[in-house]
Amino acid sequence: MLDLGPYGFGTKAVRAGTEPEPVTGAIMTPVFQTSTYVQPRPAEAKVHEYSRTGNPTRDALQTAIATLEGGRFGLSFGSGMAAIDAVLRLLDAGDHVVAGDDLYGGSYRLFTKVYARQGVEFSFVDPSDPAAVKAALRPTTKLIWIETPTNPLLRIVDIEAVARVAAEAKVLLGVDNTFATPALQRPLALGAHVVVHSTTKYLNGHADVVGGAVVVDDPALHQRLAFIQNAVGAVPGPWDCFLTLRGLKTLHLRMERHCDNADAVARFLAEQPQVTKVHFPGLPAHPGHAVAARQMRRMGGMISFELKGGVPAGMALCTRTKLFQLAESLGGVESLIEHPASMTHASVAPEVRRAAGLADGLVRLSVGVEDQGDLIDDLAQALAGV
Ligand SMILES: *Cc1c(COP(=O)(O)O)cnc(C)c1O
Repeated sequence: MLDLGPYGFGTKAVRAGTEPEPVTGAIMTPVFQTSTYVQPRPAEAKVHEYSRTGNPTRDALQTAIATLEGGRFGLSFGSGMAAIDAVLRLLDAGDHVVAGDDLYGGSYRLFTKVYARQGVEFSFVDPSDPAAVKAALRPTTKLIWIETPTNPLLRIVDIEAVARVAAEAKVLLGVDNTFATPALQRPLALGAHVVVHSTTKYLNGHADVVGGAVVVDDPALHQRLAFIQNAVGAVPGPWDCFLTLRGLKTLHLRMERHCDNADAVARFLAEQPQVTKVHFPGLPAHPGHAVAARQMRRMGGMISFELKGGVPAGMALCTRTKLFQLAESLGGVESLIEHPASMTHASVAPEVRRAAGLADGLVRLSVGVEDQGDLIDDLAQALAGV
């Protein structure tokens, strides 16, 4: 196997996990569409026994994602939520989690509507203040859970600072790296123990697969998570792994374009009279700008903003764009627009949303890789109509 250690991120994205297939030399890992594997003798496997436990196409994807995140072990799941669920299954009733207060709506729902019922306890704090994270720790705290940039407010959490709090207290730090991707930010190198992804988003990048991944560097932690992956069985099929692996090979190229376009769109929005606030870490006025500049290579492709007319204006804008298509999700090559309060974050109670600073009129953009001028023209014509 080619040692990718000395190579750069783009080279790793292209090559990690994919070795020429030994029988035919196929350069791309095939779709091993099989449930089981013929064994030479009872209780003796060639490599794999059963595809819930292991599959060569999944192996390739898991290796590729782990390599890009700079961890030794990757595990793929049928969705980002299944990946996060696998991490939460490390906990027992009575354990406590300190989580960020501006999480992906589905993560908040999993924590408060599923795991809280099973006796896991949660405190939600603003993780951009590491002292608040520290103050929320209890003797039973086992996990700190953050996203950065956060969704949808693009707040920045200082991963190194929170990792110091986690290390002192000897609790696991999990980072949902879906928004930044390893092309821009690598939490394991900053002291996190677990990285998760909704590979549905930038890693696959083409809006045609739902999937998730967990990456860790610690062998014991990997063993526990691999046990959960097999015991629970929320695994992706080989076709989804193949497509995600194909997407991953251009991650570095796509992210450059996402970042270029989002930067231009954010600057454009900041100058529009109808726009009252733009949340984008690349703007020097953003409160997390300095931390983002330190821990992220570039500022990503996500933007949210508020309009003068509040909810009606936000809703109207979402139906007036032509290139920015109205849809949930993010991270695909095509630009999307959405209204978090009524769509992705509808599962968060209105008073909780407002307390976390999520305005009812907020609009979120996932800026795609189309031509920059076309995207700005599209927003300009849509803004002119609201
Ligand atoms: C989409 C998303 C998830 C959930 O992933 P699915 O693949 O939709 O299950 C988790 N975290 C973040 C930040 C996301 O954007």
